[in-house]
Amino acid sequence: MMKTSLVEGRANYSLTIGEDTVDMNSLIGSPIKLTFAGHIACSNCGNRTSKSFSQGYCFPCARSLARCDMCIMRPETCHYHLGTCREPEWGLSNCFSPHIVYLANSSGPKVGITRASNMPGRWIDQGAISALPILKVNSRIDSGKIESALKPFIADKTNWRKMLKNEVELVDLLAIRNDLLMKIPGLIEQLEAQHLDDETLNINYPVLKYPSKIVSLNLDKTPVVSGVLDGIKGQYLLLDSGVLNLRKFSSYHVELSV
Ligand SMILES: [Zn+2]
Repeated sequence: MMKTSLVEGRANYSLTIGEDTVDMNSLIGSPIKLTFAGHIACSNCGNRTSKSFSQGYCFPCARSLARCDMCIMRPETCHYHLGTCREPEWGLSNCFSPHIVYLANSSGPKVGITRASNMPGRWIDQGAISALPILKVNSRIDSGKIESALKPFIADKTNWRKMLKNEVELVDLLAIRNDLLMKIPGLIEQLEAQHLDDETLNINYPVLKYPSKIVSLNLDKTPVVSGVLDGIKGQYLLLDSGVLNLRKFSSYHVELSV
């Protein structure tokens, strides 16, 4: 995955390849080539694996790490209280820390949750053009309960094709927040969720040209991918030959030539 930062409202991307860190924004408009020689190293234990599980892990790690458990995808199913957390210490420090419920506009308005320390990176990873934190709670499970309660009223997924084509209408996240909060006053009180009074954050992406048709590139099928880098949005490289989701190929050892 690319590391991200937000500088004056613009997403900045860098990619660590071996010992080098490449400023990806500076490559936009230039031809690049990514070569995958078949080497995947688990991002936890470093062992070589022929296939990547849970976006970057070997099979044993994907089976044993709490971060690869289903409850990470569906936080309301946290089972720490049952004593069945795969890694109770990890769970305690990661899932029982402040979590934020936010609204974002990635392909349309959606609700999501993140650790407080993951803002604004989480929104950049999703390709959101705007985001608004709305509630703060003390655990991942509580943020998941709020997210689930809001699902009947708002999407919780991104349509990545629309996001990449930039077919995204501008929406008023503050108005949506005010409307949504009125749907779940009891749960907010019960969980002692703290109302946040942030302003909407707008995010620009370094893109010269959005694709009109989405062609997905896959390093498993095509180990050499090349083209002019038209832009970057979310964790996707937008090449004139297709789009490459770098999140999907975390832990793949690739060579980048420019
Ligand atoms: Zn491993």
